[in-house]
Parts: sequence; structure tokens; C-alpha cells
Amino acid sequence: MRLLLVEDDAMIGEALRTGLRRDGFTVDWVRDGDSADQVLRTEPFDLLLLDLGLPRKDGLQLLKSLRARHEMLPVLIITARDAVSDRVQGLDAGADDYLVKPFDLDELAARIRALLRRKSGRTVPEVEHLGVSLDPASHRVLQAGREVTLSPKEFALLHLLMERPGNILSRAQIEERLYGWGEEVESNAVEVHIHGLRRKLGSDFIVNVRGVGYRVRPA
Ligand code: CA
Repeated sequence: MRLLLVEDDAMIGEALRTGLRRDGFTVDWVRDGDSADQVLRTEPFDLLLLDLGLPRKDGLQLLKSLRARHEMLPVLIITARDAVSDRVQGLDAGADDYLVKPFDLDELAARIRALLRRKSGRTVPEVEHLGVSLDPASHRVLQAGREVTLSPKEFALLHLLMERPGNILSRAQIEERLYGWGEEVESNAVEVHIHGLRRKLGSDFIVNVRGVGYRVRPA
């Protein structure tokens, strides 16, 4: 899942990006409100982590313009502003959750997972499809009760495909969601990960729709 982090504090931003990447998220980071605004108009993200005190456009202003465009993107505010009135204002402006700094990275990751779960309409934490069960929190994948060991990118790709089983994703769409800015991408990276998943889960679990992209086998 690909997150956009908007944070002007270099130390906090670096720590969050590193920690969340370690947790399996694809994370891109911008340091001011204007850049965030531009990026959000041109690139797909699954969730926005938004600081409020930002140069060039305040976080609250950014959030309001996002919601004015009817963007459904889940937004989690991360800020040092801890007054009740700030939280109320943030949530009422369209944020889905609010976390006051300093916070624990584990709690942030759990809240992100909760928002992504809600977005996908799931009630249970695990993503399940045709006997395969994927747990975003523990990063475990079970097939018919047997544990399947995946690389972090294979896990992220499987999660992406299983989250919306009806969707066909093109190679470019998969690449966009799997790799952040500055991450080296081999030209055949997606095919390599698909091949790895088929080898581990059985060749028919992921279907190649010729000329369009990939999806999981329909139920
Ligand atoms: Ca700030």
C-alpha cells in the first residue's frame, strides 16, 4: 500500500519513512503543502499522512481542498497540536483519524491498517480469497492453513491483488503502488514478482489478462 507522508520536520519525516517502509508500506515524502497538493493531483496513493503546521500551505487547508474535490483518500493527521478544538477541527475538515505527536510507530501502523481495512470494506483484519489468507499486521500468508513465505515485495503485490479481487491491474499501476520515488525498479520487476507468487501459490492463483494486466483468479 502506498502512502504519501507530508511532514516538514526532517527528523520526524525520516524516522516515519524508514519505520513505515520497514513495516511493508511504500512511502513517498514531501515537506510542504503545495508539493503535496500537486502530487496528490497526479499520482495514486492509498492513504495520506498529514502534518498540520506546514510551509506553503497549511495541512488543514490542504485537507479542505482535497475534500472539496470529493477525493475519498483516507487521511490521518499527525500533529503536535493536541487541543480538543484542533482535533475536532481536523476531523470535521474531513480527516479520518488524528494522532498527536509524539506517538508510537506501532500505533501509527495499526491505525493505518485500520483505515485501509475500512476503505476496502473489510470487517476482519485478514484479506481472504480462494483459500489464501493474508494478514497485513503480521505479514503472514496462509494457503489452506499452510504458511507461505513471501518476499516483502511479493507480499505487497499479493495484498494489492487480493484487496480488490475483481480489479485488473496493469503492470504500470502495480509498479506505481509498489515502488516509491527513488526506489530502483528493474524493467521486469513486476513479472519477476508475479512469477514468484505463482511458484509459491500455484500457477493459477494469479491470472494474466493478456494486454491488460493481472488479477487474482475470480472466485
Ligand atoms: Ca510541522
